[in-house]
Amino acid sequence: MHQPAAPPQTRVLIVEDDATIGRHLDTGLRSNNYLPTWSRTGASALTESERIPYEAVLLDLGLPDMDGLDVARQLRTRFPDLLIVILTARTDDIDIIAGLDAGADDYLVKPFSLTVLLARLRAHLRRRTPATPPQEPIRLGDLLIDTAARRCSLLGHEVTLRPKEFELLTALARNAGTAVSRETLMADVWDENWFGPTKTLDVTMAALRRRLAEAADRATSPARLPQIITLRGHGYRLEHPEPGDPSQLHQRDY
Ligand code: CA
Repeated sequence: MHQPAAPPQTRVLIVEDDATIGRHLDTGLRSNNYLPTWSRTGASALTESERIPYEAVLLDLGLPDMDGLDVARQLRTRFPDLLIVILTARTDDIDIIAGLDAGADDYLVKPFSLTVLLARLRAHLRRRTPATPPQEPIRLGDLLIDTAARRCSLLGHEVTLRPKEFELLTALARNAGTAVSRETLMADVWDENWFGPTKTLDVTMAALRRRLAEAADRATSPARLPQIITLRGHGYRLEHPEPGDPSQLHQRDY
């Protein structure tokens, strides 16, 4: 199968202690036009990440010296725009959620195919190159989504969202009041050529809802928050909050 070339000079930091997997990734990326560097420990990866700018990190969670989640957290703090993809043998939802909460943009469960990894990398990296002009912020009740600045706030207080959570919210907000299918969301937020399981959508949606609910709980006055309605067998619909009705804030049944 033909693999489109990587964007030129894309530096990828591989953090993997397993020699077989590490070599496989290093060779595979190199032969697909990426510039990989392979670190075998969390500490050496953090050092390496400061040495030269990387566009992406492929991060094993089970490292000999540190928990991969801590590495993800530190990388995210230091490099807000870095693409972090977790490579994990752990398949429990809780581990995937922890990885995304720690700052990862995406995850792949081992064993994964190099072809899939390369497709995900391309999709993520393509999205990082702004192709559309800045857009007006979207206001939904007390929630403000500034797509140009990639910021979200509730009653003026910043709501911290992971990149995919932000994109998911934006995709729903741009179609507020309208049903959006799972397929459309997968295509818009992840990859236009997406096919296969859409569990990553459920995981990201759960995290997004939790963050919005937490932001509403933190608000010092009642906030009007849009609701995300699940449409079983179809997708989701984001609903405008009723004008002047802060009661929707505490409806947590969504
Ligand atoms: Ca490992």
